[in-house]
Amino acid sequence: MSKLYLVPTPIGNLKDMTLRAVEVLKTVDLILAEDTRTSGKLLKHFDVSTPMQSHHMHNEHKSIDGILQKLKSGLVLALISDAGTPAISDPGFLLTRACIENEIEVECLPGPTAFVPALVNSGLPNDKFVFEGFLPVKKGRQTRLILLAEETRTMIFYESPHKLLKTLRQFCEYFGEERPLSVSRELTKLYEETIRGTAKEVLNHYENNPPKGEIVICVGGKP
Ligand code: SAM
Repeated sequence: MSKLYLVPTPIGNLKDMTLRAVEVLKTVDLILAEDTRTSGKLLKHFDVSTPMQSHHMHNEHKSIDGILQKLKSGLVLALISDAGTPAISDPGFLLTRACIENEIEVECLPGPTAFVPALVNSGLPNDKFVFEGFLPVKKGRQTRLILLAEETRTMIFYESPHKLLKTLRQFCEYFGEERPLSVSRELTKLYEETIRGTAKEVLNHYENNPPKGEIVICVGGKP
């Protein structure tokens, strides 16, 4: 029976791969991977020898028709990204939507994703939150920050290390220096850390300790 699985993969620690993720990847007909070289190493580690095909941001629109044809012919496919849950700031949304429109079953397995541990580690209210992913780099960035200054729920952002200081400075400017926030770095990896404090305190910390690695920022909502 045609079906698309979205299969989360570890965000650093290979032990976070679930038993079901391995089972599904071993039994599907084809794995769609964001980067077949990166995923090749992971699949080898878990003894998965299922064929792979690339499906990334740059070919997502074009490759959907071909993938739908495969699914309609009865194949079962799995989509994985380089790390974490597919479709969360990664390719997968367009394909999921196309499958639903074509009445093809979709199932996302639960598993690793960076924003959940970052939110829980932050100690900020998590009964309600908004996932903002990456802020726009240039166009629309200021408009988004002005809008978010009024947000009362905890906000979650993905960020790269070379843009962290700029973003923290803008949070001080738009949300105020006293706004509580946390920066979680290298989750599940050897040098994992979470720094918590006011926007100004966390900015001072990273001005003195240049950030490296992968980063999630959680910002308390407007009081
Ligand atoms: N699909 C992934 C997920 O489910 O979290 C997100 C992919 S997105 C392209 C990559 C971003 O996720 C990184 O720039 C960083 O903001 C965040 N991220 C991924 N792994 C992380 C980790 N181990 N620690 C902190 N942040 C991480």
